[in-house]
Amino acid sequence: MKNVLVIEDDPFYCKQMVRALNRNFPDLTVHTAESAEEARKRRVSESFDLVVTDLILPDSDGEHVESLVRSGERVIVVTGHEDDAFRKRMADFDIVEYIIKSKERRFDYLLKLIGRLMNNVERKVLVVEEAMVLQGLFRRLLEAQNLNVLTASDGNEALEVLEKERVDLVLSDYTMPDADGLELLKEIRKTRSMLDLPYIAISSATDGETVATFLKFGANDYLKKPFGKEELLCRINNTLDTLDLVSRIRKNAITDALTGLYNRHYFYEVAPAMLAIASREEDQPLSAAIVDIDHFKRINDRYGHLFGDTVLKTVAKIFRSNLRRSDVPVRFGGEEFLVMMPNTSLKRAFVAIEKLRRIVEERELPLDRSGRVHVTFSAGIAEFERGMTLEKLIKQADEALYRAKESGRNRVEMYINKK
Ligand code: GH3
Ligand code: MG
Ligand code: MG
Repeated sequence: MKNVLVIEDDPFYCKQMVRALNRNFPDLTVHTAESAEEARKRRVSESFDLVVTDLILPDSDGEHVESLVRSGERVIVVTGHEDDAFRKRMADFDIVEYIIKSKERRFDYLLKLIGRLMNNVERKVLVVEEAMVLQGLFRRLLEAQNLNVLTASDGNEALEVLEKERVDLVLSDYTMPDADGLELLKEIRKTRSMLDLPYIAISSATDGETVATFLKFGANDYLKKPFGKEELLCRINNTLDTLDLVSRIRKNAITDALTGLYNRHYFYEVAPAMLAIASREEDQPLSAAIVDIDHFKRINDRYGHLFGDTVLKTVAKIFRSNLRRSDVPVRFGGEEFLVMMPNTSLKRAFVAIEKLRRIVEERELPLDRSGRVHVTFSAGIAEFERGMTLEKLIKQADEALYRAKESGRNRVEMYINKK
Protein backbone atom coordinates (compact mmCIF):
# COMPACT_ATOMS: atom_id res chain seq x y z
CA MET A 1 0.00 0.00 0.00
CA LYS A 2 1.48 3.33 -1.03
CA ASN A 3 -1.08 5.88 -2.25
CA VAL A 4 -4.02 7.01 -0.16
CA LEU A 5 -6.70 9.50 -1.14
CA VAL A 6 -8.52 11.39 1.61
CA ILE A 7 -11.83 13.00 0.57
CA GLU A 8 -13.01 15.47 3.21
CA ASP A 9 -14.58 18.90 2.95
CA ASP A 10 -13.79 20.10 6.48
CA PRO A 11 -10.28 21.53 5.95
CA PHE A 12 -9.34 21.39 9.63
CA TYR A 13 -10.43 17.81 10.09
CA CYS A 14 -8.70 16.86 6.85
CA LYS A 15 -5.43 18.44 7.89
CA GLN A 16 -5.43 16.62 11.21
CA MET A 17 -6.16 13.31 9.58
CA VAL A 18 -3.37 13.75 7.04
CA ARG A 19 -0.99 14.66 9.81
CA ALA A 20 -1.92 11.56 11.80
CA LEU A 21 -1.49 9.36 8.71
CA ASN A 22 1.90 10.83 7.85
CA ARG A 23 3.14 10.48 11.39
CA ASN A 24 2.12 6.84 11.70
CA PHE A 25 2.86 5.62 8.19
CA PRO A 26 5.90 7.46 6.83
CA ASP A 27 5.88 5.27 3.72
CA LEU A 28 2.37 6.28 2.66
CA THR A 29 1.75 9.16 0.28
CA VAL A 30 -1.47 10.94 1.26
CA HIS A 31 -3.44 12.92 -1.34
CA THR A 32 -6.53 15.01 -0.57
CA ALA A 33 -9.71 16.15 -2.30
CA GLU A 34 -12.47 18.42 -0.94
CA SER A 35 -15.37 17.19 -3.04
CA ALA A 36 -16.62 14.16 -4.92
CA GLU A 37 -15.94 15.92 -8.20
CA GLU A 38 -12.36 16.77 -7.29
CA ALA A 39 -11.83 13.15 -6.21
CA ARG A 40 -13.25 11.92 -9.50
CA LYS A 41 -10.80 14.08 -11.43
CA ARG A 42 -7.84 12.95 -9.38
CA ARG A 43 -8.73 9.34 -9.96
CA VAL A 44 -8.55 9.80 -13.71
CA SER A 45 -4.84 10.52 -13.61
CA GLU A 46 -3.77 8.64 -10.48
CA SER A 47 -4.50 5.31 -8.88
CA PHE A 48 -4.97 4.82 -5.16
CA ASP A 49 -4.56 1.79 -2.94
CA LEU A 50 -7.07 3.14 -0.46
CA VAL A 51 -9.69 5.89 -0.34
CA VAL A 52 -10.73 7.36 3.02
CA THR A 53 -13.83 9.44 2.48
CA ASP A 54 -16.39 11.53 4.30
CA LEU A 55 -19.94 10.30 3.64
CA ILE A 56 -21.62 13.66 3.09
CA LEU A 57 -19.79 16.11 0.83
CA PRO A 58 -20.94 19.42 -0.63
CA ASP A 59 -21.71 17.66 -3.91
CA SER A 60 -22.71 14.20 -2.67
CA ASP A 61 -25.09 12.65 -0.19
CA GLY A 62 -23.08 9.49 -0.22
CA GLU A 63 -23.60 8.40 -3.84
CA HIS A 64 -19.90 8.82 -4.48
CA VAL A 65 -19.19 5.95 -2.07
CA GLU A 66 -21.21 3.64 -4.25
CA SER A 67 -19.44 4.68 -7.42
CA LEU A 68 -16.03 4.38 -5.73
CA VAL A 69 -16.85 0.83 -4.65
CA ARG A 70 -18.25 -0.03 -8.04
CA SER A 71 -15.07 1.06 -9.76
CA GLY A 72 -13.10 -1.28 -7.52
CA GLU A 73 -11.63 1.09 -4.94
CA ARG A 74 -10.94 0.02 -1.38
CA VAL A 75 -12.99 2.47 0.64
CA ILE A 76 -13.13 3.46 4.29
CA VAL A 77 -16.06 5.75 5.11
CA VAL A 78 -15.63 8.27 7.90
CA THR A 79 -18.82 9.91 9.06
CA GLY A 80 -20.61 11.78 11.80
CA HIS A 81 -23.73 9.62 11.31
CA GLU A 82 -24.54 6.69 13.47
CA ASP A 83 -27.97 5.14 13.35
CA ASP A 84 -29.52 1.89 12.22
CA ALA A 85 -30.56 3.13 8.80
CA PHE A 86 -27.02 4.24 8.15
CA ARG A 87 -25.62 0.96 9.38
CA LYS A 88 -27.88 -0.94 6.98
CA ARG A 89 -26.95 1.30 4.10
CA MET A 90 -23.25 0.73 4.74
CA ALA A 91 -23.73 -3.02 4.93
CA ASP A 92 -24.96 -2.93 1.35
CA PHE A 93 -21.75 -1.38 0.10
CA ASP A 94 -18.63 -3.48 -0.13
CA ILE A 95 -16.54 -1.04 1.83
CA VAL A 96 -13.65 -2.00 4.06
CA GLU A 97 -15.21 -0.36 7.09
CA TYR A 98 -17.02 2.70 8.28
CA ILE A 99 -15.76 4.78 11.13
CA ILE A 100 -17.71 7.21 13.26
CA LYS A 101 -15.96 10.58 13.58
CA SER A 102 -14.93 11.24 17.15
CA LYS A 103 -15.43 14.68 18.61
CA GLU A 104 -11.88 14.72 19.92
CA ARG A 105 -10.53 14.26 16.39
CA ARG A 106 -8.68 11.14 17.37
CA PHE A 107 -7.82 8.71 14.68
CA ASP A 108 -6.89 5.63 16.71
CA TYR A 109 -9.37 3.35 15.03
CA LEU A 110 -8.56 4.55 11.52
CA LEU A 111 -4.83 4.17 12.14
CA LYS A 112 -5.28 0.69 13.54
CA LEU A 113 -7.41 -0.25 10.56
CA ILE A 114 -4.88 1.03 8.02
CA GLY A 115 -2.07 -0.71 9.87
CA ARG A 116 -4.03 -3.92 9.61
CA LEU A 117 -4.73 -3.45 5.90
CA MET A 118 -1.00 -3.03 5.37
CA ASN A 119 -0.24 -6.21 7.31
CA ASN A 120 -2.98 -8.14 5.57
CA VAL A 121 -1.26 -7.84 2.19
CA GLU A 122 1.11 -10.54 3.41
CA ARG A 123 -1.50 -12.77 4.99
CA LYS A 124 -3.22 -15.86 3.68
CA VAL A 125 -6.58 -17.13 4.90
CA LEU A 126 -7.79 -20.59 3.98
CA VAL A 127 -11.57 -20.75 3.62
CA VAL A 128 -12.96 -24.28 3.93
CA GLU A 129 -16.56 -24.33 2.73
CA GLU A 130 -18.50 -26.72 0.57
CA ALA A 131 -21.00 -24.29 -0.93
CA MET A 132 -19.52 -22.38 -3.83
CA VAL A 133 -21.75 -19.35 -3.26
CA LEU A 134 -20.52 -18.97 0.30
CA GLN A 135 -16.91 -19.53 -0.79
CA GLY A 136 -17.32 -16.63 -3.17
CA LEU A 137 -18.90 -14.43 -0.52
CA PHE A 138 -16.09 -15.09 1.94
CA ARG A 139 -13.54 -14.41 -0.76
CA ARG A 140 -15.07 -11.03 -1.57
CA LEU A 141 -15.29 -9.97 2.06
CA LEU A 142 -11.76 -11.02 2.92
CA GLU A 143 -10.16 -9.66 -0.21
CA ALA A 144 -11.76 -6.29 0.57
CA GLN A 145 -9.57 -6.38 3.70
CA ASN A 146 -6.45 -6.94 1.56
CA LEU A 147 -6.25 -10.56 2.72
CA ASN A 148 -5.15 -13.28 0.33
CA VAL A 149 -7.71 -16.04 0.09
CA LEU A 150 -7.25 -19.76 -0.59
CA THR A 151 -10.22 -22.10 -0.70
CA ALA A 152 -10.98 -25.79 -0.14
CA SER A 153 -14.28 -27.67 -0.25
CA ASP A 154 -13.63 -30.13 2.57
CA GLY A 155 -11.22 -31.11 5.31
CA ASN A 156 -9.01 -33.35 3.18
CA GLU A 157 -8.59 -30.76 0.50
CA ALA A 158 -7.80 -28.20 3.22
CA LEU A 159 -5.00 -30.40 4.58
CA GLU A 160 -3.53 -30.65 1.10
CA VAL A 161 -3.50 -26.87 0.79
CA LEU A 162 -1.87 -26.56 4.22
CA GLU A 163 0.91 -28.92 3.09
CA LYS A 164 1.80 -26.64 0.23
CA GLU A 165 1.05 -23.12 1.41
CA ARG A 166 2.05 -20.98 4.33
CA VAL A 167 -1.40 -20.15 5.73
CA ASP A 168 -2.00 -17.68 8.58
CA LEU A 169 -5.61 -18.41 9.45
CA VAL A 170 -8.18 -21.14 8.75
CA LEU A 171 -11.86 -20.28 8.53
CA SER A 172 -13.82 -23.51 8.28
CA ASP A 173 -17.40 -24.69 8.09
CA TYR A 174 -18.40 -27.63 10.31
CA THR A 175 -20.50 -29.85 8.07
CA MET A 176 -18.68 -31.07 4.99
CA PRO A 177 -18.82 -34.32 3.01
CA ASP A 178 -15.25 -35.51 3.33
CA ALA A 179 -13.62 -34.84 6.71
CA ASP A 180 -15.70 -32.27 8.57
CA GLY A 181 -14.55 -29.14 10.34
CA LEU A 182 -13.89 -30.85 13.65
CA GLU A 183 -11.80 -33.61 12.08
CA LEU A 184 -9.85 -30.95 10.22
CA LEU A 185 -9.26 -29.01 13.46
CA LYS A 186 -8.05 -32.12 15.29
CA GLU A 187 -5.66 -32.94 12.48
CA ILE A 188 -4.26 -29.40 12.41
CA ARG A 189 -3.76 -29.27 16.17
CA LYS A 190 -1.60 -32.40 16.06
CA THR A 191 1.20 -30.27 14.67
CA ARG A 192 0.25 -26.63 15.03
CA SER A 193 -0.78 -24.65 18.08
CA MET A 194 -3.47 -21.99 18.39
CA LEU A 195 -0.85 -19.28 18.01
CA ASP A 196 0.84 -21.07 15.16
CA LEU A 197 -2.25 -21.49 13.00
CA PRO A 198 -5.48 -19.94 14.29
CA TYR A 199 -8.73 -21.66 13.40
CA ILE A 200 -12.19 -20.07 13.37
CA ALA A 201 -15.09 -22.54 13.21
CA ILE A 202 -18.37 -21.76 11.48
CA SER A 203 -21.54 -23.75 12.04
CA SER A 204 -25.27 -23.52 12.15
CA ALA A 205 -25.34 -25.69 15.24
CA THR A 206 -26.80 -23.58 18.01
CA ASP A 207 -26.40 -25.99 20.91
CA GLY A 208 -23.76 -24.99 23.40
CA GLU A 209 -22.15 -28.40 23.15
CA THR A 210 -20.90 -28.01 19.59
CA VAL A 211 -19.39 -24.64 20.41
CA ALA A 212 -17.70 -26.05 23.50
CA THR A 213 -16.35 -29.04 21.59
CA PHE A 214 -14.72 -26.83 19.00
CA LEU A 215 -13.20 -24.57 21.63
CA LYS A 216 -11.92 -27.54 23.62
CA PHE A 217 -10.19 -28.96 20.58
CA GLY A 218 -8.39 -25.69 20.01
CA ALA A 219 -10.57 -23.47 17.84
CA ASN A 220 -9.58 -19.86 18.44
CA ASP A 221 -13.13 -18.65 17.90
CA TYR A 222 -16.58 -19.77 16.78
CA LEU A 223 -19.11 -18.16 14.47
CA LYS A 224 -22.77 -19.18 14.50
CA LYS A 225 -24.69 -19.14 11.24
CA PRO A 226 -26.33 -16.91 10.22
CA PHE A 227 -23.88 -14.14 11.00
CA GLY A 228 -23.48 -10.58 9.81
CA LYS A 229 -20.56 -9.33 7.80
CA GLU A 230 -19.45 -7.12 10.65
CA GLU A 231 -19.36 -9.95 13.14
CA LEU A 232 -17.32 -12.11 10.80
CA LEU A 233 -14.78 -9.37 10.20
CA CYS A 234 -14.55 -8.48 13.89
CA ARG A 235 -13.80 -12.07 14.82
CA ILE A 236 -11.21 -12.43 12.09
CA ASN A 237 -9.60 -9.13 13.03
CA ASN A 238 -9.45 -10.00 16.72
CA THR A 239 -7.75 -13.28 15.90
CA LEU A 240 -5.26 -11.65 13.55
CA ASP A 241 -4.55 -8.89 16.12
CA THR A 242 -3.71 -11.52 18.72
CA LEU A 243 -1.38 -13.12 16.24
CA ASP A 244 0.34 -9.77 15.65
CA LEU A 245 0.72 -9.20 19.34
CA VAL A 246 2.32 -12.60 19.81
CA SER A 247 4.76 -12.08 16.98
CA ARG A 248 5.65 -8.64 18.36
CA ILE A 249 6.24 -10.07 21.81
CA ARG A 250 8.34 -12.83 20.32
CA LYS A 251 10.35 -10.34 18.28
CA ASN A 252 10.99 -8.22 21.38
CA ALA A 253 12.05 -11.27 23.33
CA ILE A 254 14.85 -12.04 20.86
CA THR A 255 15.90 -8.49 20.03
CA ASP A 256 18.31 -6.22 21.84
CA ALA A 257 16.39 -3.00 22.48
CA LEU A 258 19.28 -0.58 22.04
CA THR A 259 20.86 -1.88 18.85
CA GLY A 260 18.05 -3.88 17.24
CA LEU A 261 20.44 -6.83 16.84
CA TYR A 262 19.53 -10.29 18.14
CA ASN A 263 20.14 -10.80 21.84
CA ARG A 264 21.95 -13.48 23.77
CA HIS A 265 18.73 -15.34 24.36
CA TYR A 266 18.16 -15.77 20.63
CA PHE A 267 21.77 -16.78 20.14
CA TYR A 268 21.43 -19.70 22.53
CA GLU A 269 18.22 -20.66 20.79
CA VAL A 270 19.66 -20.91 17.27
CA ALA A 271 23.34 -21.71 17.79
CA PRO A 272 22.88 -25.44 18.50
CA ALA A 273 21.17 -25.96 15.14
CA MET A 274 24.02 -24.15 13.39
CA LEU A 275 26.55 -26.41 15.09
CA ALA A 276 24.52 -29.47 14.16
CA ILE A 277 24.53 -28.55 10.48
CA ALA A 278 28.27 -27.89 10.51
CA SER A 279 28.86 -31.24 12.24
CA ARG A 280 26.80 -33.12 9.70
CA GLU A 281 27.93 -31.44 6.49
CA GLU A 282 31.62 -31.67 5.72
CA ASP A 283 31.47 -28.76 3.29
CA GLN A 284 29.66 -26.36 5.63
CA PRO A 285 32.29 -24.69 7.79
CA LEU A 286 31.07 -22.47 10.62
CA SER A 287 32.94 -19.58 12.20
CA ALA A 288 32.23 -17.40 15.20
CA ALA A 289 33.61 -13.92 15.86
CA ILE A 290 33.62 -11.99 19.12
CA VAL A 291 33.93 -8.26 18.69
CA ASP A 292 34.70 -5.90 21.56
CA ILE A 293 34.88 -2.13 21.30
CA ASP A 294 38.23 -0.69 22.35
CA HIS A 295 38.48 1.53 25.42
CA PHE A 296 34.76 1.88 25.58
CA LYS A 297 34.88 2.84 29.23
CA ARG A 298 37.02 5.81 28.27
CA ILE A 299 34.54 6.81 25.52
CA ASN A 300 31.71 6.75 28.07
CA ASP A 301 33.73 8.67 30.63
CA ARG A 302 34.84 11.30 28.17
CA TYR A 303 31.72 11.89 26.08
CA GLY A 304 28.93 10.57 28.25
CA HIS A 305 26.85 7.45 28.35
CA LEU A 306 24.42 8.68 25.70
CA PHE A 307 27.18 9.06 23.20
CA GLY A 308 28.36 5.59 24.20
CA ASP A 309 24.93 4.30 23.27
CA THR A 310 25.15 6.05 19.89
CA VAL A 311 28.46 4.30 19.28
CA LEU A 312 26.86 0.92 19.97
CA LYS A 313 23.96 1.69 17.63
CA THR A 314 26.28 2.84 14.87
CA VAL A 315 28.48 -0.23 15.11
CA ALA A 316 25.38 -2.45 15.07
CA LYS A 317 24.11 -0.69 11.96
CA ILE A 318 27.43 -1.20 10.22
CA PHE A 319 27.26 -4.90 11.08
CA ARG A 320 23.73 -5.26 9.79
CA SER A 321 24.37 -3.61 6.47
CA ASN A 322 27.72 -5.23 5.73
CA LEU A 323 27.30 -8.84 6.76
CA ARG A 324 25.69 -11.61 4.73
CA ARG A 325 22.05 -12.36 5.29
CA SER A 326 22.92 -15.75 6.66
CA ASP A 327 25.27 -14.28 9.29
CA VAL A 328 23.76 -13.78 12.71
CA PRO A 329 25.07 -10.73 14.59
CA VAL A 330 24.21 -10.70 18.28
CA ARG A 331 24.71 -8.16 21.03
CA PHE A 332 26.36 -10.50 23.46
CA GLY A 333 27.03 -8.16 26.36
CA GLY A 334 27.57 -4.44 27.04
CA GLU A 335 29.98 -3.50 24.26
CA GLU A 336 30.60 -7.01 23.03
CA PHE A 337 29.12 -8.50 19.88
CA LEU A 338 29.14 -12.04 18.59
CA VAL A 339 28.73 -12.96 14.94
CA MET A 340 27.85 -16.50 13.91
CA MET A 341 28.87 -17.11 10.31
CA PRO A 342 27.47 -20.28 8.76
CA ASN A 343 29.09 -21.66 5.64
CA THR A 344 32.18 -19.55 6.34
CA SER A 345 35.74 -20.78 6.87
CA LEU A 346 38.13 -19.14 9.35
CA LYS A 347 39.94 -17.27 6.59
CA ARG A 348 36.76 -15.96 4.98
CA ALA A 349 35.42 -14.92 8.37
CA PHE A 350 38.65 -13.03 8.91
CA VAL A 351 38.18 -11.14 5.65
CA ALA A 352 34.58 -10.24 6.54
CA ILE A 353 35.35 -9.04 10.07
CA GLU A 354 38.46 -7.21 8.91
CA LYS A 355 36.26 -5.33 6.45
CA LEU A 356 33.93 -4.32 9.30
CA ARG A 357 36.90 -3.27 11.40
CA ARG A 358 38.04 -0.89 8.69
CA ILE A 359 34.59 0.60 8.15
CA VAL A 360 34.16 1.23 11.88
CA GLU A 361 37.64 2.70 12.20
CA GLU A 362 37.00 5.13 9.36
CA ARG A 363 33.50 6.16 10.40
CA GLU A 364 33.39 9.65 11.93
CA LEU A 365 30.93 9.89 14.79
CA PRO A 366 29.62 13.43 15.20
CA LEU A 367 29.66 14.89 18.70
CA ASP A 368 27.36 17.77 19.65
CA ARG A 369 29.69 20.73 19.41
CA SER A 370 33.12 19.41 19.95
CA GLY A 371 33.86 17.78 16.61
CA ARG A 372 34.12 14.14 15.64
CA VAL A 373 35.23 10.95 17.28
CA HIS A 374 36.59 7.70 15.90
CA VAL A 375 36.13 4.36 17.61
CA THR A 376 37.77 1.02 16.96
CA PHE A 377 37.15 -2.57 17.93
CA SER A 378 39.15 -5.72 18.39
CA ALA A 379 37.92 -9.14 17.35
CA GLY A 380 38.74 -12.80 17.74
CA ILE A 381 37.59 -15.52 15.36
CA ALA A 382 37.42 -19.29 15.73
CA GLU A 383 36.22 -22.02 13.41
CA PHE A 384 34.02 -24.87 14.53
CA GLU A 385 35.45 -28.37 14.40
CA ARG A 386 33.48 -31.56 14.59
CA GLY A 387 32.71 -32.58 18.17
CA MET A 388 33.31 -29.13 19.57
CA THR A 389 30.84 -27.68 22.08
CA LEU A 390 29.40 -24.20 21.74
CA GLU A 391 31.24 -23.15 24.91
CA LYS A 392 34.54 -24.27 23.42
CA LEU A 393 33.92 -22.38 20.18
CA ILE A 394 33.19 -19.18 22.09
CA LYS A 395 36.18 -19.72 24.36
CA GLN A 396 38.52 -20.05 21.40
CA ALA A 397 37.14 -16.89 19.78
CA ASP A 398 37.56 -15.17 23.14
CA GLU A 399 41.19 -16.27 23.39
CA ALA A 400 41.83 -14.82 19.94
CA LEU A 401 40.13 -11.59 21.04
CA TYR A 402 42.37 -11.44 24.09
CA ARG A 403 45.40 -11.68 21.82
CA ALA A 404 44.03 -8.87 19.64
CA LYS A 405 43.70 -6.66 22.73
CA GLU A 406 47.17 -7.62 23.96
CA SER A 407 48.80 -6.80 20.66
CA GLY A 408 47.57 -3.22 20.67
CA ARG A 409 43.78 -3.33 19.86
CA ASN A 410 42.04 -2.34 16.61
CA ARG A 411 42.93 -5.77 15.20
CA VAL A 412 41.33 -9.04 14.20
CA GLU A 413 43.00 -12.27 15.35
CA MET A 414 42.25 -15.87 14.42
CA TYR A 415 42.39 -18.76 16.85
CA ILE A 416 44.97 -21.17 15.48
CA ASN A 417 44.87 -24.72 16.75
CA LYS A 418 48.34 -25.60 18.00
CA LYS A 419 48.03 -29.35 17.86
P1 GH3 B 1 38.99 -2.74 26.23
O1 GH3 B 1 39.56 -2.01 25.08
O2 GH3 B 1 39.98 -3.55 26.95
O3 GH3 B 1 37.82 -3.57 25.79
O4 GH3 B 1 38.47 -1.65 27.25
P2 GH3 B 1 36.97 -1.26 27.55
O5 GH3 B 1 36.98 0.02 28.31
O6 GH3 B 1 36.18 -1.26 26.32
O7 GH3 B 1 36.48 -2.49 28.38
P3 GH3 B 1 35.67 -2.66 29.72
O8 GH3 B 1 35.09 -4.04 29.62
O9 GH3 B 1 36.54 -2.36 30.89
O10 GH3 B 1 34.51 -1.59 29.69
C1 GH3 B 1 33.32 -1.76 29.01
C2 GH3 B 1 32.44 -0.60 29.34
O11 GH3 B 1 31.23 -0.64 28.55
C3 GH3 B 1 31.98 -0.56 30.74
C4 GH3 B 1 30.49 -0.24 30.69
O12 GH3 B 1 30.18 0.89 31.47
C5 GH3 B 1 30.25 0.07 29.24
N1 GH3 B 1 28.93 -0.34 28.80
C6 GH3 B 1 28.38 -1.57 28.88
N2 GH3 B 1 27.12 -1.57 28.35
C7 GH3 B 1 26.86 -0.30 27.92
C8 GH3 B 1 25.75 0.33 27.30
O13 GH3 B 1 24.70 -0.27 27.02
N3 GH3 B 1 25.85 1.64 26.99
C9 GH3 B 1 26.99 2.35 27.27
N4 GH3 B 1 27.02 3.64 26.93
N5 GH3 B 1 28.05 1.78 27.88
C10 GH3 B 1 28.00 0.48 28.20
MG1 MG C 1 34.28 -5.77 27.19
MG1 MG D 1 35.88 -3.08 25.30
